[in-house]
Amino acid sequence: MAGLQNLSRHTRVGIITNTVWTSANSSYLGSFFSEIARLAFIREMHLWNFFPMGDHAEDLVESIPELLRRLPEMAEGPASNGKWLVLKAFPQCLSVPSGVYNDNEFPLTLIPDVFWRTLGKCGFGRCVHRARCKDEKCWGLSNAYREKFGEEPDLLRPFIGLGEAKQV
Ligand code: SF4
Repeated sequence: MAGLQNLSRHTRVGIITNTVWTSANSSYLGSFFSEIARLAFIREMHLWNFFPMGDHAEDLVESIPELLRRLPEMAEGPASNGKWLVLKAFPQCLSVPSGVYNDNEFPLTLIPDVFWRTLGKCGFGRCVHRARCKDEKCWGLSNAYREKFGEEPDLLRPFIGLGEAKQV
């Protein structure tokens, strides 16, 4: 927080915060986002899905139903300050409440290939509905998530039809 305040002294700085959704922080994020949403220089708050890349990280994976249960309280602080809570790398088909924007678009990132090779082992992009879902950018669920909580076939709703915003 001291570092953010320091940056705010530069009047042209706009800040986007990145927070990863885990079982270790899920119960604190409502108050966390309320706190940082009040800071005028924070333009957006991003909440990232967790794709474990190391051993023994599965314990930190938190469930999507728990995310959906907590999203209203997490979005409350940002919304009351005229800001959005932005979800990154979560299933695109999730039904999210008002004040939450589910965005799987990524800017150009300068990250070494070794990162992507390692990340590729996490199983991202896989989904029980992958074969018929038309959303090709969706990150789906990680291997660790599917092992811990299952495929969530009833929670995920594939987009069907080219160019249509139709879900089944
Ligand atoms: S159904 Fe489609 S949008 Fe939903 S998680 Fe699977 S691939 Fe992503």
